[in-house]
Amino acid sequence: MDFTLKTYRSLLSALEQSGYAFRTFEEFLSVPAGGKVVVLRHDIDKRPENALRMAQMEHASGIKASYYIRVVKGTWNEEIIERIVALGHEMSYHYEDLTIAKGNYEKAFEYFKKHLAEIRRFYPAKTVCMHGSPLSRWDNRKLWEKYNYREAGIIGEPYFDVDYTKVLYITDTGRAWNKTGASVRDKVEGGLELKVKNTRRLITLIGNDKLPEKLIINTHPQRWFDFGWGWMNEFICQHIKNAVKKALVAFMH
Ligand SMILES: [Zn+2]
Repeated sequence: MDFTLKTYRSLLSALEQSGYAFRTFEEFLSVPAGGKVVVLRHDIDKRPENALRMAQMEHASGIKASYYIRVVKGTWNEEIIERIVALGHEMSYHYEDLTIAKGNYEKAFEYFKKHLAEIRRFYPAKTVCMHGSPLSRWDNRKLWEKYNYREAGIIGEPYFDVDYTKVLYITDTGRAWNKTGASVRDKVEGGLELKVKNTRRLITLIGNDKLPEKLIINTHPQRWFDFGWGWMNEFICQHIKNAVKKALVAFMH
């Protein structure tokens, strides 16, 4: 069974045993380190309670990760934000202000600053990460063609401030690892590429020392459950979504 919390725990142990040091994204940017380093980047698109479970599991293993949460209803949850921060993780904003402002750049930057201030009530956020909004007509990253997040005290955004010819980016978007066609916008431009059909395979590659020294592993906690009804529901929905996205990607090219 893939995408269970048990599998996630195995992934963490494989990274640990292989000698990877865990860094938050902020640390990764501000204190560049030699050797094996991994950033666990979690995008909280929905089901924040799943993110809390992952955060607790990481904490139990002495691991710090980076969590990015949307401000939309059903996702934004102050109690969970507080609890994740208390576990020692980085917490910041999974922004989509251009979508929220329906393409109005000026308004979008105002919203961005306002939402960032909301997050900063809980954590001194210095990095942010875009929400892909796969079905929206606006690409939230385009906000930075007119504005600069550094003005808001942000030192990094994973889509702009990482050299992906040196860092391998692995994402569970589409409920597989680096699935082609599943991600409309949740991908990065860069040289290193790796397709892995499941988490077991990823664990094997880590165990056999087949991955680069620098990794960013992007997961969406809403996909990860203990095996049961939640897992089944996610499994079925994702198969339907993948079919829709595949059609959308074909349409866009
Ligand atoms: Zn997202």
